[in-house]
Amino acid sequence: VSAISRTYTMRSGMFGRSTAVHAVDGVSFSIRKGETLGLVGESGSGKSTTGRIVLGLEPPDAGEVRFDGEPMAAPGTREWRAQRARMQMIFQDPLGALDRRLVVAEQVREPLDIHGLGTRAEREVRVQELLRSVELSAQHGRRYPGALSGGQRQRIVLARALATKPDFLVCDEPVSALDVSIQAQVVNLLADLQAQLGLTMLFISHDLRVVRQISNIVAVMYLGRIVETGSADDLFARPQHPYTQALVSASPAPGRRSAGRIVLSGDPPNPAARPSGCAFHPRCPLAIARCVTELPALASVASDRQVACHLVTGPEAQSRDAA
Ligand code: SF4
Ligand code: MG
Repeated sequence: VSAISRTYTMRSGMFGRSTAVHAVDGVSFSIRKGETLGLVGESGSGKSTTGRIVLGLEPPDAGEVRFDGEPMAAPGTREWRAQRARMQMIFQDPLGALDRRLVVAEQVREPLDIHGLGTRAEREVRVQELLRSVELSAQHGRRYPGALSGGQRQRIVLARALATKPDFLVCDEPVSALDVSIQAQVVNLLADLQAQLGLTMLFISHDLRVVRQISNIVAVMYLGRIVETGSADDLFARPQHPYTQALVSASPAPGRRSAGRIVLSGDPPNPAARPSGCAFHPRCPLAIARCVTELPALASVASDRQVACHLVTGPEAQSRDAA
């Protein structure tokens, strides 16, 4: 994914004034085969829009998405359908993704039917195999979605997504609607299946705990831009951007005391009213004058780490180090 942007026009107020909303602004990242990139940020940060652009569900205004080295083809073309067949998505609401009137086995079989994969008998075998892979039984397959728990429904959605053997999975808040006690189970299952099947994943969540559990690399978004990236272990152990530091201190890891150093204050981010300079400056406890006027570029600070903050990458970084 390189430098993708997406702007919406929003009408508001009694005169119908239109506002340009920069939902995604120059976002770049790449995910290596078989790895998971966790995209983190508060709601309104542009995570879901990024996911939708990556899947080709909406076009970027600028920038490019490449899949397996090839640019994504234009929607509706044969090349695009071939690429899309190798991608699947899982969203937050499993009930919305399922048909309440069909027993789950039929819904798991549906993608096989649509793509004409195997004979009728082979499809039945595959459905049972898929149910087992998400740790459900044939009995679950005979039930309706309404008769299953939230966690079981999300397993069904997962089984359905895996039916056509995709290479790439986009998961947007896949466990956010589930009880906390169930979340870890579903994420563990996802991680196991990913390892077994060699899946590549884009995992979108506002929940650091969950992202930490499953990601190799993490990108933190704030108001449409990536403000920090790094390997999951390193980024959570040593967050460098003040926003990441605030998120991490608000979500203590097991066995580590909450540092509680930076507390997020101020209004939650509003994409329709993006502050000047560093968009985080109204909430940043470390902001300096320059932050109000100058947008910090995302710059490499180590082989595996990029940060967009004047205090980390600007001339101020040296004086801070010296102090
Ligand atoms: Fe805070 Fe300034 Fe860094 Fe933005 S650039 S995160 S406002 S210190
Ligand atoms: Mg979202």
